[in-house]
Amino acid sequence: MRRHILVPMCLALLFPSLMAASGCARVPETGRRRVLLISSSQEQALGAQAFEEILAEEKISDDAAMTAMLERVGRRIAAQANQPDFEWEFKLIESPQVNAFCLPGGKIAFYTGILPIAANEAGVAVVMGHEVAHAVARHGGERLSQRLSMDLVEQLLAVGLRDSSPAVRDGALQAFGVGAAVGVVLPYSRRHEMEADHIGLLYTARAGYDPREAIPFWERMAGGAGTRPPEFLSTHPGVERRIEQLRELMPEAMEAYEAAPTQYGLGETW
Ligand SMILES: [Zn+2]
Repeated sequence: MRRHILVPMCLALLFPSLMAASGCARVPETGRRRVLLISSSQEQALGAQAFEEILAEEKISDDAAMTAMLERVGRRIAAQANQPDFEWEFKLIESPQVNAFCLPGGKIAFYTGILPIAANEAGVAVVMGHEVAHAVARHGGERLSQRLSMDLVEQLLAVGLRDSSPAVRDGALQAFGVGAAVGVVLPYSRRHEMEADHIGLLYTARAGYDPREAIPFWERMAGGAGTRPPEFLSTHPGVERRIEQLRELMPEAMEAYEAAPTQYGLGETW
C-alpha cells in the first residue's frame, strides 16, 4: 500500500523513457521535494547555449575594477555552492537594467545598473547568492518541467536550444529566468524567490560577507525608482515578506558568518 501512495509523488517514475533524466530529489538546504524532467547536465548544456546567445547581444563592461570585483565575489559565493560540475563564468554587462542572473552550470551575468543599489561587495554577494541559489536549486529545470509537455522537453533535449522550434526555445529561456531575451518575462514563483533568498543568505554568510547587509540591500531595492528588473526584483513576494524571512534566518546566517575562515564585512564600497 505504501508504495502506491509514494508513486504519484514522483510522476517522472511513470514515464520510463525519461527515468534516466528525471528525479524527484530534494532541494539543498531547504529539503523541498520536486519533480524534474531533465538532468542537471542537460540543463547545463541549455544554460551554456542561452548564455552565449545573450552575451552575443550585449556589451561587456570595460570597467576592469568592477569586473575584477564581480569575479572575486563570484568565486567566493561559488565556493559555497558545492557544484563541482559547474563551469563558472562571471560577466559584467554594460546596461542600465537593474538585473542579474545565473544560468544552469554557473553562467552568471550582472548588469551595471544593479551595482549602485548593491553599493558594496556584500550587496553584490546577496544578489549573487540569490541567483546562484536559483541555479543550484534547479528552479529553471523545475519550471521547464512544469511548463513544457514531455514531448516538448524531449524535442528540446534532442536538438538543443538553437534548433528547437521558437515556442520551445522561448519557453526554455523563460523558464531559466532570462525571458527578457525573447521579450517575455516570467517571474519566479513566490516559493522559488523565498527559497533563493534563504539559500543565498547562507552562501553570503559562509563566503565571509556580512549577511546583515541583505536587509538594507532589499530596502534600497524597494526604494529604487525606475524600471523593475525582469528577474531580480520580482514584484512578489513583497520586500516586507522577504525581509521578514531574512530576519528569521539571521541568527543561523550570523553563526555561519562568524564561522567563515575570513570575514570581509561589507568588502569594498562604492
Ligand atoms: Zn530570484
